Amino acid sequence: MNSVIDFDAFVSERARSVDTSGIRRVFELGAKLKNPINLSIGQPDFAVPDAIKQATIRAIESDRNGYTLTQGVPELLGAISRHLGSDVGWRVPSDDLNVIVTSGTSGALWLAFMAILNPGDECIVADPYFVLYPALGQVTGSSVVACDTYPDFRLTAARVEPLITNRTKLLLVNSPSNPSGVVLNSGELRELVDLCERRGILMISDEIYDEFTYDDARENGQCPSPARLTDQLLLVRGFGKTYGCTGWRMGYVAGPRLIIQQMQKLQQYTYVCAPSMAQVGLAGAFDVDMSAHVAAYKRKRDMVLEAFGGVTTVEHPGGAFYAFVEVPSRLKVSGSMFCERAIEQNVLVIPGKVFSRRDTHLRLSYAVSDKTLRAGLDILVRLMR
Ligand code: PMP
Repeated sequence: MNSVIDFDAFVSERARSVDTSGIRRVFELGAKLKNPINLSIGQPDFAVPDAIKQATIRAIESDRNGYTLTQGVPELLGAISRHLGSDVGWRVPSDDLNVIVTSGTSGALWLAFMAILNPGDECIVADPYFVLYPALGQVTGSSVVACDTYPDFRLTAARVEPLITNRTKLLLVNSPSNPSGVVLNSGELRELVDLCERRGILMISDEIYDEFTYDDARENGQCPSPARLTDQLLLVRGFGKTYGCTGWRMGYVAGPRLIIQQMQKLQQYTYVCAPSMAQVGLAGAFDVDMSAHVAAYKRKRDMVLEAFGGVTTVEHPGGAFYAFVEVPSRLKVSGSMFCERAIEQNVLVIPGKVFSRRDTHLRLSYAVSDKTLRAGLDILVRLMR
């Protein structure tokens, strides 16, 4: 149909400012493949644990299908509160702290940016970064300032401090990291917390991958978290990756009551509430043992490190299910060009450029079967030799 309306003229500057071309290109190339070896997907390959499935089905059958309180259903809020008490030692809710359930971790991050940043304000993030972060800057008219963390991908206070200006409001920390899998240790987190306190900056800690932290990066059996050092930050966590239910859109955010209150107000007028049946179904999730899946992913992580050993550099991923793999400079190709070669060989991986100002790496997800991973690694390694 020939349109008489120039729809393109209707698109806001805000929408236009967000660039999805990097990921779209991988999808377009991938769509042409018959049975790609897909190492590009950022979600677990295991099924939702049966107890959680059944609890969610029961929630639907018992008519928990209407709006919930914007903050979340009491049974899930209670479970989160107990979990945060034992995991990071926060007392939530209290006079100073509060928590809300959000529509995914993305929902929490959107609300945080909307509640905190004015146009022109600045938020510092590590480069490489999760793709949502720069987009959040663009839609709020704020600047997301990339802190180059190559080659070890560690967001250190020494790297962050020179980027602080009088417009810096936020430091967004993501450990374990997407795309590098790097986990910061408590010493590094302590320095970041001190820096934020000293310079009057609010930290957001995006800990969506906290459960996927491997023994070699754990401290006292736990994923290192700045929330154990201070409660003057926004702690963002999710259920999607941990329990394999990314499509249920479930996350939560805890932190200073005053900020959470503003986020809750904005949630009322946007998402309204997180999905009701998923909230009820996940109330028992913290009691579900995911350690066998975590152990399986650690083994896959080791397969990746072993495959690339002696071929190229992979900074040790202590968590998440990604590796950020350097394309050897002797090949004299960019990360993007290498990924196109990989796609020609039927392997889908994402160019590092999608997550970075640099174009020297690729991100692979090892949240796939051993067989798929083995096949993909063999091809990638062959292309790098
Ligand atoms: N933060 C990071 C670092 C992520 O990798 C993702 C998902 N890929 C999200 C947030 C968003 O997760 P959710 O599906 O819970 O919105």
